Amino acid sequence: MDQPRTMFAHMLSAKGVAVVVTNHRVQPLPMRPAEGSGTGRLVCGACGRQFLVTVHSRDRTHARRVLFFVLGLVGLALAALLLWLTFGVAMQPDGPDLDTEPDNASWYGYTGMAGIFLPVIGLAYLINARKYDGVGRLRRIGEDGTTSRLTAGHKLLPGK
Ligand SMILES: [Zn+2]
Repeated sequence: MDQPRTMFAHMLSAKGVAVVVTNHRVQPLPMRPAEGSGTGRLVCGACGRQFLVTVHSRDRTHARRVLFFVLGLVGLALAALLLWLTFGVAMQPDGPDLDTEPDNASWYGYTGMAGIFLPVIGLAYLINARKYDGVGRLRRIGEDGTTSRLTAGHKLLPGK
């Protein structure tokens, strides 16, 4: 069991338009459960509003990091493969039959799209794999007991 690096923050002030100065009053999240996931209740120390946040166990957090990492690598590998295939096809001296030209056009279209999106998605997953802290979204508990994603002035700050 341990504490997530992510902190819960009550934003005390946000001033200016061009220059935003934000002060946070931070407090730690609930401890990780020994296994699985747990939803903990947080009471803001600054304003007393109540929040819910889901925290995953160390094992589950680690498993998701590995998953994101693998997905990121697969995305980058696929992008590399598509680029290689595209250039491989293009550089064949006698080329594929001219009959297949319309197919080639759409092939380039698809690989062009995938060539842009796959590396971006792959990198996003790789970054996420590093940063992921096993913490779900913050939800606010309203006065009537319902939960809301609108956390007005409160947020989760990723740990360093
Ligand atoms: Zn607060």
